[in-house]
Amino acid sequence: MASRKLLLLPGDGIGPESMAEVKKLIAAMNADLNAGFETEEALVGGSAYDAHGQSISEADVATAMAADAVLFGAVGGPKWDSVPYEVRPEAGLLRLRKDMELFANLRPAICYPALAASSSLKPEVVEGLDILILRELTGGVYFGEPKEIIDLGNGQKRGVDTQVYETYEIERIAAAAFELARTRGNKVCSMEKRNVMKSGVLWNEVVTATHKNGYQDVELTHMLADAGGMQLVRWPKQFDVIVTDNLFGDMLSDVAAMLTGSLGMLPSASLGAPDAATGKRKALYEPVHGSAPDIAGQGIANPIAMIASFAMCLRYSFNMVAEADRLEAAISAVLDDGLRTRDIMSNGMTEVGTTQMGDAIVAKF
Ligand code: ATP
Ligand code: MG
Repeated sequence: MASRKLLLLPGDGIGPESMAEVKKLIAAMNADLNAGFETEEALVGGSAYDAHGQSISEADVATAMAADAVLFGAVGGPKWDSVPYEVRPEAGLLRLRKDMELFANLRPAICYPALAASSSLKPEVVEGLDILILRELTGGVYFGEPKEIIDLGNGQKRGVDTQVYETYEIERIAAAAFELARTRGNKVCSMEKRNVMKSGVLWNEVVTATHKNGYQDVELTHMLADAGGMQLVRWPKQFDVIVTDNLFGDMLSDVAAMLTGSLGMLPSASLGAPDAATGKRKALYEPVHGSAPDIAGQGIANPIAMIASFAMCLRYSFNMVAEADRLEAAISAVLDDGLRTRDIMSNGMTEVGTTQMGDAIVAKF
């Protein structure tokens, strides 16, 4: 039997409530499918700070580095607003992203049929939508040097950020995009601004060269990122995988998120480079939403974003494609039955709490 090591980091606020529903799925998969998940659980964020004064312990970072995958809930809340900057709740997550070198951020935009009517677009534009935005996460203008505000001395200041990409950074995100596309609709659209940016020229060149060098079975197109944003809202179903840089990816993934409805529905994954010996990628899966302190402890949080993040984990870390498909189908079926947590509640539907929603999904799985 396969051994599959998972580190669970529930975190703060609604993190533990959502993670509890994933634990039910893990237990069911171990019992019924002999899935062999071995879980360890640790504190992260404010709860870790309360316990030992750090937002994540060194030992837990080491466990994360050795795990096949990390499932992360959410961190933060008003209770920790005034803790020192270096140990603030978010520092634990940033530390993991950096140490695990999670350069590829996957943000799917899936529109479940039952929720198509609550999109910000017309139902026919989003119904059945299933696209994946792949954002480069560790380079580009958010990290490039110099990054500063210079006092020009004449009452004027100059704010400087620098967009920098090197060949290897573009190569590895492009390769990740082609590999992901092969597991889906086999299409990649690369977005940059080569008409006005040198880093965009290089991005386009390297994506094209990477494609020629081993990925020609995947369909590749290019779009200028501004036109891409327009097309994403006009007819999102034309896309399968969109690969883009850190800045454009930040914006385009938020736009794509709004096509599909509530924050409580959106999963994400962050992947590292494949290990040279085993081919395995370090990976962290987390809902897009935060710790939602306003509803924490009330049993009303929507666990679907966390459960859908676990489905991504099955798909991308364990190649359990059939199980991932079934889990997503179970989410869809429960929505078709009219069950809704408060954040996605609408007329004529049945309002349920976090555990009821989780139980219903486990039962359909
Ligand atoms: P962060 O800074 O950690 O991203 P945030 O302030 O951006 O946090 P969230 O914690 O994600 O925001 O919450 C934003 C709003 O969405 C809140 O009103 C919250 O209650 C709601 N919300 C977020 N996640 C969920 C969920 N899973 N179920 C129901 N409501 C949610
Ligand atoms: Mg936020």
